[in-house]
Amino acid sequence: MMLGLIDVSKSKEDFQRLKSYWNTFHCQSKIISSKNRIYGKYCKNRFCTLCSAIRKADIIHRYYPTLKTWKEPHFLTLTVKAVKINSLSKWINGMFRAFSLIMAKYKKRYQRGESIQLVGIKSLECNFNPQRKTYNPHFHIITDNQEIAEILRQEWLQIWKYKDNPEKIVVSSRAQFIRKVENLERDLIEVIKYGSKIFTEPDIKNKSKKQKSNLAPMIYIQALDAIFTAMKGKRIFERFGFNLPKRERPQPKSKRTYEFDNWNFNLKVNDWVNTETGECLTGYKTPVELAYLLEEGVNKRLY
Ligand SMILES: [Zn+2]
Repeated sequence: MMLGLIDVSKSKEDFQRLKSYWNTFHCQSKIISSKNRIYGKYCKNRFCTLCSAIRKADIIHRYYPTLKTWKEPHFLTLTVKAVKINSLSKWINGMFRAFSLIMAKYKKRYQRGESIQLVGIKSLECNFNPQRKTYNPHFHIITDNQEIAEILRQEWLQIWKYKDNPEKIVVSSRAQFIRKVENLERDLIEVIKYGSKIFTEPDIKNKSKKQKSNLAPMIYIQALDAIFTAMKGKRIFERFGFNLPKRERPQPKSKRTYEFDNWNFNLKVNDWVNTETGECLTGYKTPVELAYLLEEGVNKRLY
């Protein structure tokens, strides 16, 4: 996947992205083992499946205790219409601007004692529709209670109305979805999926009909690059209306050691190989299904 993204950024002559993609390609590729521990460098990029998995776990760990205290949390999705690649950045910017306008309005109302406080967490996600070649940016939100979800939904619909032509639909009310949170852990994971799914179902129509598609999921490289580009500099995950309790970060202690091994990741064997002995670190065998997906499931066509 990263080599595909590297090719895309090369062809676009986007050298900054090219460098970030290479960093992710090399994430944890050189590691040092010593006394049953391994040490390596994380790239911390959001398109790194490893680093974003760690970030997600960290968010769940930090937010779950607070969200558990909310009385009747609700799950809300706010969307805009499906958009083409050329206007994706513009729409994502607009979504953030719209949301902060709503926040500012209700902050004032709350301070004047005219409204409840809007409390929740939100994240940006963007799906790609391979049949229509469109992108669906949307916010996933968990609010403290139902009233907040209703306010956000109503204000969202209001803000996207064309002033000169109220009949013209930018945002349909049916697509702004609210439901009660039944399983907080599951919904928290849904909210922090973090940006973009790597695999896309090639046949979305079938999926909606609850039929099992016999087409394997695909990685659409150009679409992923477009989504990551449009999300650059945006806060994907955010809280509003509350703070988390302060946490103490333990400072890592360092110790000098002279007993260690160097290992380099080798794509041919899908494992880290000891630079001196040639031994493999994990003995991992790629499952056939995964090998197939990574060989056949990568689509590099341009949309
Ligand atoms: Zn990484």
